[in-house]
Amino acid sequence: MKTIYLDNNATTRVAPEVLEEMLPYFSQLYGNPSSMHSFGGQVGRKLREAHEKMAALLGASPDEIIFTSCGTESDNAAVRAALHSNPDKRHIVTSRVEHPAIRALCAHLATRGYRVTELPVDAEGRLDLEQYRKALTADTAVVSLMWANNETGVVFPVEQAAEIAGEKGIIFHTDAVQAVGKIPIDLGKTAINMLSLSGHKLHAPKGVGVLYVRRGTKFSPFMIGGHQEKGRRGGTENTPGIIGLGKAAELAARYMETENTVVKNLRDRLENALLARIPNSRVNGDRVNRLPNTTNISFEFVEGEGILLMMDEFGICASSGSACTSGSLQPSHVLRAMGVPFTMAHGSIRFSLSVYNTDEEIDLVVEKLPAIIETLRAMSPYWKPGEGVCARS
Ligand code: PLP
Repeated sequence: MKTIYLDNNATTRVAPEVLEEMLPYFSQLYGNPSSMHSFGGQVGRKLREAHEKMAALLGASPDEIIFTSCGTESDNAAVRAALHSNPDKRHIVTSRVEHPAIRALCAHLATRGYRVTELPVDAEGRLDLEQYRKALTADTAVVSLMWANNETGVVFPVEQAAEIAGEKGIIFHTDAVQAVGKIPIDLGKTAINMLSLSGHKLHAPKGVGVLYVRRGTKFSPFMIGGHQEKGRRGGTENTPGIIGLGKAAELAARYMETENTVVKNLRDRLENALLARIPNSRVNGDRVNRLPNTTNISFEFVEGEGILLMMDEFGICASSGSACTSGSLQPSHVLRAMGVPFTMAHGSIRFSLSVYNTDEEIDLVVEKLPAIIETLRAMSPYWKPGEGVCARS
């Protein structure tokens, strides 16, 4: 059975060009880039090239790019560096819909004497910039807001938010793990101080990420050790991973147009067809300011896990918006923050596409899913078959 992979916000396949670029650095070209000999030196040159390629994708300078091990490390390094360089300030501003890489970190910091403001979002998952402005105080050390939400794809106005923080002398970090490669980013034109991204979300391998640190932003390393990454991230570099991510950055720039036309059209076709064919379904999140590859759709009165299991029988991979916590299914913190009704939140599915998806794959999902939902609803005590309305008010 062919896999229909519509879970690209969870992780992506390594692009064949990326794999090809990486392979020699596992076997023939295994030198340490810090070595004095030319065998290592040639790897060092390739790492510098990766910095250049990543900088080109982000509109940054190569010396503003620090390679890390993942998005989570970049997020941790950014927030901790900002707090370290502002030892007198104890306030962090973030949102209720951040990934655990920021949310759990802030919850941890709250137990260490920091005050954390988690900004709410509206029913469409949007941030209110006025409310944000009011949350910033003389005690605020850092703002961390995601560029795009991993569950809904909703895009936050981080460029404006960074301007506002900058006017008050507050360090602004953005978790752009889901945004990079999907929407154009030109950091040179923004006031963003730090940005995180992760290789495995843009067709590079797992185990490599980037932290962008704007020139002039005070930074202290999270990983203390050797002089690698200009002393900003100790530890022998993941050379194949970094070289692969450099190549992925080059490909992402090349495919940006495709992502925002072909992939977006596939996503819209999937979304519109499912909404038209399946009663009591709706999209979660702002449909305007959204990543081109993501749709989060709720199918009322069914459980997301049931949908995932039945789709799996046809090789269709997606994610649900609920997770099993202490033995019971809990809607995600993102859908809860948006106030998505309970019966809707439980049946939410995130489809996230990539440039590798095809029309035929979308056709198959559109063909199979209505019957899956009908089967599951037939088992639900709350669904009135045939009428398309719920029995419970
Ligand atoms: N931030 C966001 C928005 C994410 O979606 C993810 C991963 O899903 C991360 C951070 C963490 O990235 P990594 O898996 O590379 O640690």
